[in-house]
Amino acid sequence: MKITRLECWAHAMPLTEPYTIAYETIGQAVNVFLKAETDNGLTGWGCAAPDLAVTQETPEMVVAAFNNIIEPFLLGADPFQYTRLLEGLHKFLPHHPSTLAMADMVLFDLMAQKAGEPLYKLLGGYRNSIATSITIGILPVTETVERARDFIRKGFKVLKLKGGNDVEEDVEKVARIREAVGNRAEIRFDANQGYTVEQAIAFIHRTEHYKVELLEQPTDKHNEELLKEVALNVPVPVMADESLMTLKDVFHLTSRGCIDMINIKLVKVGGILEGLHINSVAKADNVEAMVGCMDESALGIAAGLHFALARPNITYADLDGHLDLLDDPFAGLVRLEEGILYPGERAGLGVSA
Ligand code: MG
Repeated sequence: MKITRLECWAHAMPLTEPYTIAYETIGQAVNVFLKAETDNGLTGWGCAAPDLAVTQETPEMVVAAFNNIIEPFLLGADPFQYTRLLEGLHKFLPHHPSTLAMADMVLFDLMAQKAGEPLYKLLGGYRNSIATSITIGILPVTETVERARDFIRKGFKVLKLKGGNDVEEDVEKVARIREAVGNRAEIRFDANQGYTVEQAIAFIHRTEHYKVELLEQPTDKHNEELLKEVALNVPVPVMADESLMTLKDVFHLTSRGCIDMINIKLVKVGGILEGLHINSVAKADNVEAMVGCMDESALGIAAGLHFALARPNITYADLDGHLDLLDDPFAGLVRLEEGILYPGERAGLGVSA
């Protein structure tokens, strides 16, 4: 199998409503799509979700990297030599994780299509479905509780609450949500680096009664010792998100005992191959993983889902980034029922020809 044609373009998708996290408010998502055709008639798909704050890429950078590096590199290449191809691309694009993820997705999609199986089976096929959390951005308390009620009515069983700017308000939100939904939902909390160590510890102690399931990235990504201090002092698992960008990061975080869980986002770490490496390091330390996402088209979400279904220690999914997007060309690629995500049963990532 040889790649004979490649095409790449940026695509803007407005959000149904803007949302706020500890450091920004987001109103639209621009993804970059990659399409690759092969000499045996297959078409593979990939998706980048560049984000200056997280991946340090813009859509223009992704498209330029495609024109200058990816297209000449992959034209004529055999997707089954994916480690050679992705190692090569990584050398040229060491600081383009989302761009790399886009190329990686195309190669995995093509290999699974050639195998005639959905990608999650090619990758290991550990599960057939996984529950996803649904995110509540930073909103006033009353709206937060209304949103939580609404999501539970829609069948979601895991809420991911964003915060990190105000411990008082965050504690109140958790308490009010728990009162409103009872034990019908898990509550996960993502501070997006907004807390100090003391604030993170205070937040967990003050919400102990309301059972927060996990605490994601409470403190500054630049100092993993802060994460460690929180993890050592709270009874709830502490998860690294922004602190984990590379294989080296997961090695440092786990070997120094800084965290209990990790959040792997394909567009953050450079794709499925790198995600598998990262997950193996986590597994070596009995660290469980969640597969997360950015504001991604259902194409990126499908890749994250197939990856999540493939490994036993990937126990959580936070794959809701596509749900608020308007004008998503890949809408419907994954199925959501009562808060559970299911992949399509078509081969590869499941995009119809
Ligand atoms: Mg996060």
